[in-house]
Formats: sequence, structure tokens, C-alpha cells
Amino acid sequence: MKRRKFIADTAKVGVGLAILPTLLQAKELNENSKIDFIQQPLPYSYNALEPYIDAATMEIHYTKHAAGYTKNLNDALKEEYKKADAITIENILENISQYSTKMRNNAGGHYNHELFWQILTPTSSKKPSGALAKAIETSFGSFENFKTQFNDTALKRFGSGWAWLIVSNDGLKITSTPNQDNPLMNIAETKGFPLLGLDVWEHAYYLKYQNKRAEYINNWWNIINWNVVEKRFDNR
Ligand code: MN
Repeated sequence: MKRRKFIADTAKVGVGLAILPTLLQAKELNENSKIDFIQQPLPYSYNALEPYIDAATMEIHYTKHAAGYTKNLNDALKEEYKKADAITIENILENISQYSTKMRNNAGGHYNHELFWQILTPTSSKKPSGALAKAIETSFGSFENFKTQFNDTALKRFGSGWAWLIVSNDGLKITSTPNQDNPLMNIAETKGFPLLGLDVWEHAYYLKYQNKRAEYINNWWNIINWNVVEKRFDNR
């Protein structure tokens, strides 16, 4: 994927945007530069995804957990801006091996959560259509097979992490990452552009589901914004 197109696509769905110009060269920065990534507003209310995700979980997840990643990403960047060729979240992730653990955890946490809010909706079509639907059938046999494999991957992620549908160099793949890593990182075992990501940290479901991660995963399919996922695929 060409970098310029990648950044444009990411911007279109409102993921991972810095408020300063999209490409800011590191040499123009100093430790006093205002480098702030921001959380996009949640595109629905905290209770909009009930009964599948409860309002209390959404509010704490967005205003505490996710906000914390964004704040700590900005803190890390003030210390490590000299390592960046350009300050975009994608550039940082693609070169994450050059950065600290603090940057890895929080740049990942920021990107992953900004994506997660965008790919959810209270008015889900429940399944994809168009080119993405065809690609899923080609890659996994059927949408049902895809869901089964994705559920299995999400369930088997030991501890905290994410399950992903990505576009890799060999087409669509299901993969999983620990902690706040993601498939854009140069350290990821399986690399690609994330279309869909599922947060399986306990903070994403424990208030409602306690230990029943499988039930949370099954219910999550009711609130996927396939329009957004399809656009990510079409514009990848
Ligand atoms: Mn989370």
C-alpha cells in the first residue's frame, strides 16, 4: 500500500488523526512543539450499544482507558519525537521497534480504540455486503466460517489483546495481537491493514459479562458497523 493513500484512507474514517498537519516532519519539531493526538468524539451515546455493551462499560472504556492511552501517547511523543520521520500514528506504529515500551503500549492503545469506536454502531446490518462480502467468502468459505474462525481466535487470545481481520500481502487474514499491539506494527507476527478489531481486554466486557468472554464475542457481531469496515476495505 502506498503511504499517501494509506494516510488518506485512514483520515477518511477519522482514525488516528493528529490535530496538527497530517505530515509534520520531525526536524520541524522541538520539545516545546504542541504534538497532540486527540480522541475523536464517540459517534453514539454510551448506552447506544445496549444490551450488547452496557453504558457503564462504554463510559469507563472511552473516558478512562482509551483517554489514558491517548494522553500517555502524547507524553511519550514529547520525549521521543526525534525518532519520528513524520508524526502520524501510522508512521509511529510502522517503526515501533525504535520506540519505548511506553510508546508501543500507548500508540497501539490510541489507534486500536479509535478504530474500535468507529467500527461499532447501534444500527448494524449484521453482515457485510459488496466487495468485502465476496472477499470474505473467497478467503474463508462463507461468512459463518469467517465468524467461527474469528471467534476462536478472539477466545484463544491468552490474557489481554485484540483479534483482527486484516488485509495482508496474501489477502484477508484473521490474526491476534497481545496487549495493545496491532498488525500495523513492524514487530507484529502477522502484518497488515486492520479492517476490523475486537478488544478482548477484560475492561471491555467484565462489568456485564465477567468471565464469559465467549458471550461478549458472540454478542459483538450484532453491533458491527459494516459500512465503515467495507469502506476501509474498498479504500485500502
Ligand atoms: Mn480497551
